[in-house]
Order: sequence, then C-alpha cells, then structure tokens
Amino acid sequence: MADLFKDHINPGQFHFMKLLGFHKVKIERAEGMYYTDQTGRRILDFFGGFGSLAHGHNHPRVLAARERFQEERRHEIAIAFLSQYAAALAKNLAACSPGALDMVFLGSTGSEAMEAAIKVAERASGRKACKIVHAENSFHGKSKGVLSLTDSPLYQGDFQLVGNRYKVPFGDLEALKRVIENDSDVGVVVLETVQGGGGIIGAPTAYWQGLRALCDRHNVLWVADEVQCGYGRTGKFYAFEHHGVVPDVTALAKSLGAGKAAVGAMIATRDVYMKAYGTPKTAMIHAQATFGGIGEACVTAIEGLNVLYDEDLIGNSAETGAYLLARLQAIQAKYPQIIKEVRGQGLMIGLEFQDFSRTLPLALRPMVAVLDDKLKGSLSGFIGALLLKDYNVLVAFTEYNRNVIRLEPPLICGESHVD
Ligand code: PMP
Repeated sequence: MADLFKDHINPGQFHFMKLLGFHKVKIERAEGMYYTDQTGRRILDFFGGFGSLAHGHNHPRVLAARERFQEERRHEIAIAFLSQYAAALAKNLAACSPGALDMVFLGSTGSEAMEAAIKVAERASGRKACKIVHAENSFHGKSKGVLSLTDSPLYQGDFQLVGNRYKVPFGDLEALKRVIENDSDVGVVVLETVQGGGGIIGAPTAYWQGLRALCDRHNVLWVADEVQCGYGRTGKFYAFEHHGVVPDVTALAKSLGAGKAAVGAMIATRDVYMKAYGTPKTAMIHAQATFGGIGEACVTAIEGLNVLYDEDLIGNSAETGAYLLARLQAIQAKYPQIIKEVRGQGLMIGLEFQDFSRTLPLALRPMVAVLDDKLKGSLSGFIGALLLKDYNVLVAFTEYNRNVIRLEPPLICGESHVD
C-alpha cells in the first residue's frame, strides 16, 4: 500500500510520512473514538479529521440509514428529477439555522460550499466590482477561487490569485471599519467564526456584534465559514450563536457527512439568495455540480443530524469540552514555561506551547516533557497529525502555527477519553 501511495498519489507526501514513521501504520478498522491498526493497537482519535467526525467513526445509526437506502434502490443524481432527499436535508438544515438562513446549496466539500457562499454574497452585494475582505491566517479551502482567501503562502504557492481583496487582522474591528468606510466597492466580509488553521483563535462577542452593525450600516454581506467550527463543535450548532448575531451566508461541511459521506452546504438568507439568483434567468448561474445533493450523501447527512440531536452531541461537546479545557488548563498552570496557553470552546481546543523552536521536532520536545519520560523519542507526526505512539492518541498540528496542537475529537467523546 505504501508503495502504491508513493507511485500514484503523492511521492512528496510519502517522503514526509516515511520520515515520521506513518507509512507503516495501516488502519484496519475505525469505530467510535478509536482506530485499530494492523497490529491490533487501538488509537484514540482526538484529531477527528480536523473536526469531521462529530459522530465518531462508523456510527451504527448512520450505517443503518445508508444500508436501508441502498436496499431500497433509490436514485442518486439530484439534477434530472427533484430529489426528496436533497429537499429533506435542506429543510432540516434550515430548521437548524437561526434567523432567515433558509436557502441551501448542497455540494460535496467545504471548499465547494465556500465557493458557493462567496458567489451568492458577491452577486447579492449589488457591486459590479465587488471587493472581498478576509482575515490574516484564514483558511477557506484550496480550490482555485477560495484559495485567494486562504491566507497561506504554503497553499497559495505561486498560483495566480483571483478577485479584489483586502486582508485585515482577525478580530480587529477598527481595521475592518477602515477598509469598509474607505472603499464602497467592498461588498463581502468572509471570516471563520473560530479560526482553525490559524490555531483555534476566536473573537469576543463585541467584535461580532460590531461587525454585524458595521455590515448592516454599509450594506456589506457577512459570510461566516463554519466548516470547521460549526455543527456543534463549539457547543452550539453554529459558533456564531455564542454571540447573538446571524450572518447573511454560512457554510458547513466536514461532520455534516456524519463521517461517511462527502457533504458541504451553503446556507443563505432568503433575501440574499433571491437577490443573487431569484429569477429563472439567474437561477442557472447557481446550478449545483453533478454530485450536489446526491441521495446517499443526503440520507447520511439527515441521519447524522438526527443523531446529533437525539444523542445531544452538542450538549456533550459543551460539557466534555469544558472538562477537557479545565484539565489542560491545570496542566498549563503547572508548566507555564512549557505551555503558553490552552484555549477554545466545546471540543475545539488549541494547546499552544511556548515558542521553543520553529521546527517540528523541537516544538514537540516540551510536550514530551509534560506528558511522560517514556514518550521521549517516540513521537511521529505529519502535517497536522501527530500520533502519540505510547499513549496511542492522535491529535492535529496547526498549519500556520506549529506550536499549536488542535484537539477536535468526535463529539461522542466522554470524560473517560479525556482522562
Ligand atoms: N473552511 C474551513 C474553515 C476549513 O477548516 C476547511 C477544511 N479544513 C475548509 C473550509 C475546506 O473544506 P474542504 O477541505 O472540505 O474543502
């Protein structure tokens, strides 16, 4: 398998995996909070596919819903005929979304959902040469359009970027105000509500309320990227719900597919949607991709939402997240010279080490010291994922700040897993 990956998928990535020892791990099974590798070793998943596995691996109810759907021989493609599955999922998403966030576009990834979000906002802004504001250290995907709004030299490489953009520091209302007040072509502000790739960075309620008021005053649309922080991750369905404000457009993906399907969704207010695509002539500008709203993905996502609420995974995220945060903060208080800060909400937590080094292996050393002598020299990791081998725990690094470890376990995580 390792050779096939090297020969046909990504030789460069294979090189890193080999350096770090990941190429030898073959996952045979994944259930609930755990992976099992070829040696029978169980690995506790605190990485969760960067927040993609709210229900854990292979949730039995999600599997059963998919099996029922397959047995019934239903249709998949949602383009030729109206799809009852796409319609039902859209209705459920509208019900989960506050305010007038009622109109849903279905796709397969977070990038696709964000592309759709930016397109609808740009059209609805009414500006011909619409400019978009995004934040420093933002991550909105790697497809060609949103890549321009992802503030990463690593991912942007030397691709030609598109669109007229302004970049402001995240959480800086004054900077945003200056940009919006000085250029009437600014029509859209795009922000993750909690920055994931930036290292689990939030902003206070005053910022979000100020942003909402500013946007309303200048007829600017606010797009909230909830691909990573949404779907209950922070202890509310949407992270912006902590702040008593509602964006004009938002996007979900990752856990929306309940760990089994690729589903991304853009959700816009009816007003925004109608401004952008409300006439038969403009409707096709917005048309979905071939696999947007396919049956199996929608059935999976619908059951995923049922499980999310039936099992109160959002409540669990808030509760277990508070417990995890408190346990980590106690460690931080004991070792402030090693751990700089522990932050986050719900089960979206960042653990920032003191900046001992900018290189990956050196940055790991303080963690080894905190956890156990036994761990020394036995860590391995790759772009965001670190396998704490002796403890068999998988966590994620952070692209833009390598001193930050991201903890985004499934929302079924309990105190025993935290312990
Ligand atoms: N937005 C955010 C905030 C994300 O974290 C991600 C994925 N890490 C994306 C968009 C893109 O999602 P996808 O990888 O599914 O295209």
